[in-house]
Amino acid sequence: MDTNFDVIFIVIVIGAVPGGDIAAIRAEQLGMNVACVDAWKTKEGKPTQDGTCNNIGCIPSKALLQSSKNLDQAKHHFGALGIMSMGELRMDVAVMLERKNQVVKSSNEGKLYLFRKNKVQFLNGLAFMTRAAVGLELDGRGAVVVNGEWRTSVPSIWAIADVVRGLMLAHMAEEEGVAVVERRRCRCGRAHCRPSRSCRFQHDPQRHLHQPGNRLGRSHRAAAQIRGRSIS
Ligand SMILES: Cc1cc2nc3c(=O)[nH]c(=O)nc-3n(C[C@H](O)[C@H](O)[C@H](O)COP(=O)(O)OP(=O)(O)OC[C@H]3O[C@@H](n4cnc5c(N)ncnc54)[C@H](O)[C@@H]3O)c2cc1C
Repeated sequence: MDTNFDVIFIVIVIGAVPGGDIAAIRAEQLGMNVACVDAWKTKEGKPTQDGTCNNIGCIPSKALLQSSKNLDQAKHHFGALGIMSMGELRMDVAVMLERKNQVVKSSNEGKLYLFRKNKVQFLNGLAFMTRAAVGLELDGRGAVVVNGEWRTSVPSIWAIADVVRGLMLAHMAEEEGVAVVERRRCRCGRAHCRPSRSCRFQHDPQRHLHQPGNRLGRSHRAAAQIRGRSIS
C-alpha cells in the first residue's frame, strides 16, 4: 500500500467501523477529502478494517447464532411441521466456524469496496495524534468526554461510539458518525443526542430504531408503548 501522500485530508477518521466507515463515506459524499485509518489485521496478518463489530462482535456472533438457532429448530420444532429427521442431528463446529469466517470476510470485502466506490482513502496502520491527543479529557472510566455534539475537549477532534460513555452498540456508532459529519458540514445532522447518548431519531422510518419516539436502549415494544401504539 502506498503510504506517501502529498495530499491534505480535510477529515481523518480513526477506526474504520462501524462508526468510522459510515462517517468517512458520508464526509466524502458531502465533498470533504477523507482518509480513514484502522490498525486491525486478520489472524494471517493481512490489513483489514471493521473493528469489533465485524471481526469479533455483531457479525460473527450472529453467524454462529444462526447455525445454532437452525439446529434448535430442526431438533425441537420441525416435527410439528411434519418434517422428520432420519438420524441424529449434531453440530459440525469446524464447518460452523468456517462459514462464520466467510461471512466476516465477505463483509470486510464489502466495506472495502464501499470505501473504493466512495473514494475514501483507507490506510491500514496505527494513527497517532501528535499535537492534540494529549489534551483529551477522559472520565473516571477512561471514556473520552464529549459534549452534546460529540466535541471533545480538544478543538477539531470529535469522538463517537464505544470510546465515549453510553450504550455500546454498532447502530448507535453509525448514527453518531453520520450526525457528527452532517452537523459539521451543513448543520443538518439527523440524530438529536444528549451527552448521555440517549438518542431520538427523526428520519429514516424504514428502520424501527429511527422512528419518532423510539430511543436506543429501549425495546421495540417499550418504544411502541411510549408512542401510544400497541404491538403484537
Ligand atoms: C460479541 C459482541 C456482539 C455484539 N453484538 C452487537 C449487536 O448485535 N448489535 C450492536 O449494535 N452492537 C453489538 N456489539 C457492540 C458493537 O460491536 C460495538 O458497539 C461497536 O463495534 C463499536 O463501534 P466503534 O465505532 O466504537 O468501533 P470498534 O468496533 O470499537 O472498532 C474500533 C476500531 O478502531 C481501530 N482503532 C482504534 N484506535 C486506533 C488507532 N490509534 N489507529 C488506527 N486504528 C485504531 C481499531 O482497530 C478498530 O477497528 C457487539 C459487541 C460484541 C463484543
